Amino acid sequence: MERRAHAMLFPFPCSGHINPTLKLAELLHSRGVYVTFVNTEHNHERLRRRTGTAAAAAEGGGLRGREGFRFEAVPDGLSEEDRVAPDRTVRLYLSLRRSCGPPLVELARRLGDRDGGVPPVTCVVLSGLVSFALAAAEELGVPAFVLWGTSACGFVGTLRLRELRQRGYTPLKDESYLTNGYLDTPIDWIAGMPPVRLGDISSFVRTLDPQCFGLRVEEDEANSCARSRGLILNTFEDLESDVLDALRDEFPRVYTIGPLAAAMHRTQQVQQCHGHGNAGLSLWEEDSKCMAWLDAQADGSVLYVSFGSLAVLSLEQLSELAWGLAASNRPFLWAVRPGLVVGDRGADALPEDFLAETRGRCFIAEWCAQEQVLRHRAVGGFLTHSGWNSTTESIWSGVPMLCWPGFADQYINCRYACEEWGIGLRLEETLRREQVTAHVEELMGGDTDRAREMRRCAAEWKAKAEAATAPGGSSYESLDRLVEELRLGEA
Ligand code: UDP
Repeated sequence: MERRAHAMLFPFPCSGHINPTLKLAELLHSRGVYVTFVNTEHNHERLRRRTGTAAAAAEGGGLRGREGFRFEAVPDGLSEEDRVAPDRTVRLYLSLRRSCGPPLVELARRLGDRDGGVPPVTCVVLSGLVSFALAAAEELGVPAFVLWGTSACGFVGTLRLRELRQRGYTPLKDESYLTNGYLDTPIDWIAGMPPVRLGDISSFVRTLDPQCFGLRVEEDEANSCARSRGLILNTFEDLESDVLDALRDEFPRVYTIGPLAAAMHRTQQVQQCHGHGNAGLSLWEEDSKCMAWLDAQADGSVLYVSFGSLAVLSLEQLSELAWGLAASNRPFLWAVRPGLVVGDRGADALPEDFLAETRGRCFIAEWCAQEQVLRHRAVGGFLTHSGWNSTTESIWSGVPMLCWPGFADQYINCRYACEEWGIGLRLEETLRREQVTAHVEELMGGDTDRAREMRRCAAEWKAKAEAATAPGGSSYESLDRLVEELRLGEA
């Protein structure tokens, strides 16, 4: 009798990693794979309680397991002090590396030993930044797959960081290199990529740190994917064909299964399951009132503004953005999560008078059901930090973007959105309210040639994203191949 494949999935514990990994988990489960999704205990508790009521929490909140789909948790090793430190993500990364391998191995063994029909773990699926878990898979004697959460161009850029360092492009000699035009240096030798600016490749080339901690972490994490059985990317063939071709020279098994949001949506429709399911788990409470507000707006009239789960704005950036949006006279929905503003602040940091000035055409939410928002008929543009999940969700929704990248792969995503895919306008790094207003006007006003072309391209990419995830499409077939590979099991 054929053994049931059992994938143990472990993402780096932040939204940008948990969300796509959870979608992948749901997709694998929908194709018959037994799934164990592993959170850190801290996030597990946070997700469990998030539904608000004690009764719901007692039932597991959003984390309701079901046949062939279970949630488990391992400790992240962080102290309460670490959890609120400004460099908490770095601390979390180091702590996981230090302490999380043995509990993962122990968990996998325990699951396999259990009576009651849990098949033994046959493979481990990680997100980026938890490469230490490759060793756990090796110890268990099962293959590991990495769901690297960036674009293919982002991944290739990260792979080339080592060479950039060895060739002396980075770290930067001093602070003046950030503003003296050096970051515009053309880089035309990365296989599969058109000529790009040095500064577009990754935020990590901007480091001044002679130890290059962040840079080395990124390059080590990306290069360690070579130890995995296969690389899974949330992209689709048409979108990044050149860079994918080049990548396959180094990584023979690349599974392009995105946009994950589209693949997930299709699966939910086929299975006729209503509501979000686990794929909609979120570390923040979603504001449902913003959907009613959107219902009352005209088609394509609203600019959605969000900078994802990690970005932190200075007070000056917040003010330039706010007043730039206010002067545009366009309706906008802005996700201002607690912690978006320096000093762990949120909407309370918005400039005085801003809400009064924009009353009636502005909705501030802490956190939105972003996929639903982007697919709402009223949304006509997205002001984004160019995080890869946000970018793919926008592509799938056919919404053109105003891009203001600031970290990691966001610069290369922005570069591709604006110059390769024709669906983005870029804001300068130093935000100025006049430019914000002018770009919002161009994007939302829509009567320039450039704006018309962006809308045309956005509609075209939307159709291609749908086609890729439909039966017979490249992402659909790639997922089939991945499931086949997981079923083969043994390392
Ligand atoms: N997101 C959301 N509601 C919000 C803001 C963001 O659901 O109000 C989700 C968004 O849909 C995306 C994720 O958070 O899936 C952010 O991931 P991304 O890669 O864009 O950025 P990161 O948070 O990693 O910087």
